[in-house]
Amino acid sequence: MNRLNSNHNRKTPKPLMYYYGLVLITVLIINLVVMPMVQSRQIIVTSYSEFIESVESDKVEQVQFSDTEIKYVIEVDGKPRVFKTGVVDNPSLPEKLQEKGIKYGAVIPETPNVFLSLLLSYGLPILFFSFIGRQIRKNMANRIGAGGLNIHGQNSAKVYKPDKDKKTFEDVAGQEEAKESLNEIIDYLNNPKKYEEVGAKCPTGVLLVGPPGTGKTLMAKAVAGEADVPFFSISGSEFVEMFVGRGAAKVRELFDQASKQAPCIVFIDEIDTIGKSRANQFSTNDEREQTLNQLLTEMDGFEANKGVIILAATNRPEVLDPALLRPGRFDRQVRMELPDLIGREDILKVHLKNVKTDSNIDVNLIARMTAGASGAQLANIVNEAALRSVRIGNNVVTTTDLVESVETVIAGAEKKNAILSEEEKRIVAYHEIGHALVAAKQTDSAPVQKITIVPRTSGALGYTMQVDEGEKSLVSKKDAYQRLEVLCGGRAAEEVVFNSITTGASNDIEKATEIARNMVTRYGMSENFGMMALETGGNAYLGQRGQSNCSPETARLVDEEVRDIIAKAYENAKKILIDNREILDELSDYLLEKETITGEEFMAILNKK
Ligand code: ADP
Ligand code: MG
Ligand code: ZN
Repeated sequence: MNRLNSNHNRKTPKPLMYYYGLVLITVLIINLVVMPMVQSRQIIVTSYSEFIESVESDKVEQVQFSDTEIKYVIEVDGKPRVFKTGVVDNPSLPEKLQEKGIKYGAVIPETPNVFLSLLLSYGLPILFFSFIGRQIRKNMANRIGAGGLNIHGQNSAKVYKPDKDKKTFEDVAGQEEAKESLNEIIDYLNNPKKYEEVGAKCPTGVLLVGPPGTGKTLMAKAVAGEADVPFFSISGSEFVEMFVGRGAAKVRELFDQASKQAPCIVFIDEIDTIGKSRANQFSTNDEREQTLNQLLTEMDGFEANKGVIILAATNRPEVLDPALLRPGRFDRQVRMELPDLIGREDILKVHLKNVKTDSNIDVNLIARMTAGASGAQLANIVNEAALRSVRIGNNVVTTTDLVESVETVIAGAEKKNAILSEEEKRIVAYHEIGHALVAAKQTDSAPVQKITIVPRTSGALGYTMQVDEGEKSLVSKKDAYQRLEVLCGGRAAEEVVFNSITTGASNDIEKATEIARNMVTRYGMSENFGMMALETGGNAYLGQRGQSNCSPETARLVDEEVRDIIAKAYENAKKILIDNREILDELSDYLLEKETITGEEFMAILNKK
């Protein structure tokens, strides 16, 4: 829905490849089939002896000599056909022809076939190419709208229609700060007079910045809905995918239409596709650059207070061209962050409104289980729960459905047919209990929500779900260490109990290493370096690693410290498990029997002692 609608795309334009294919096939047919046919009907090449034979047997009617060949006519099936052969030095030939009464030396009239062959070899292709050209231009006009009218003279004016499906701030849960900063724009669109009187200029461009799935697109729509103005939306990639050179035209067109409908909102989704910084690029992309330049020009062309507000969204603000961000363009940034506990609860409620639910659904529990999930993921969880309730023949969504779908969305669906041997199951059980026990034994650590050794499609053989009681924005060094210890708990349990280690901990190791590295390079939690940033950049939203900005020697020291931090956490985890060996066995046996146990069951056994 969030693309430009036009009144012109009644027919979906055929892809360009289609026409190229047609051209190719036609050329092939002309060359391989038609041409040989035409030529063969025209002149038949024979040997000189055949020629003489034909002369002897009185078949030949006419002969024409030239320097290099002899052409002669024979009647075949009542129609004269032209044959030709090479020239052989034979002075007696004219004599012989004379003798047989054959006309020779005369000019043989052009056969109509020559004309036909000319037509086929030149005329048809010309016709065909002009047809294809027309189709391509039409196609192009279809895609780019009125921009196409300059190309072929026909007026295919296209109107960008605003999107219809209306959203309001009620559809966007949480994101209170973002709403607040966007309120000013809505207020301006509602009564611009107020601002004009004071002489205040409204910002023309606002950039929505945040990780994927946080509702940037949704928010842009909601702003238009709240202000009750037309909403034009286009995605950055649409500019680039188009025919070479049309991106800029499309920008012009878009702004043309928008200014006619002012006040309105123009929304450019994924602006980083066209707005990438032009600096430090090996190859320049002319097409993108032109589109970007056109965008900049258009934005400058808008006098403030004209009533066209441009919103754009990106999850990679750091790659944007600085020219886009300077005052007068996208000078205002609104951050859309991943929702916190309350935000998640609100988002779940918004989406649960659209499905039939059980009366006593525990939204808070689900919100607590989904720390770090984005709005899009939460919406997906609700949908998965609804699907599940249909699947099991229940007509309402229950808390159990939601809990299950959390795992589907976040941990991957249960793998129904993965078969583990008894021994493997035992190892997995100890591994998971190892995580959980270490977590439970640390006073500040979050209690366990659920432990399972039912394999997931994501490849995890077991799964320990922790639930934070509250939200933690600041992670202390102690917290970080405890998290590391919990991550090490799985592998440590394997070592303590079986005195062997398995591949089951690879994911834990990856996570632990990331935490430890960040502690050293980003959070200043290192003993050796203290508050020294050893890594910069990287996209925190997309979980990319930054650039290391230290000397190779320092990098080695960093690696060593990361290793030491993890080793220390591992030793602590192992100690906790050795000290609680009895309870570790009991819990593991219980899990092995039940396959899935809840946090309460776990705590009951733990506190029994
Ligand atoms: P983005 O553009 O930031 O990647 P979208 O706006 O496309 O994210 O969000 C995708 C979907 O996720 C929305 O259509 C909506 O259903 C849901 N969603 C995301 N954030 C929220 C929110 N704050 N409140 C309600 N729904 C949300
Ligand atoms: Mg989006
Ligand atoms: Zn593990």
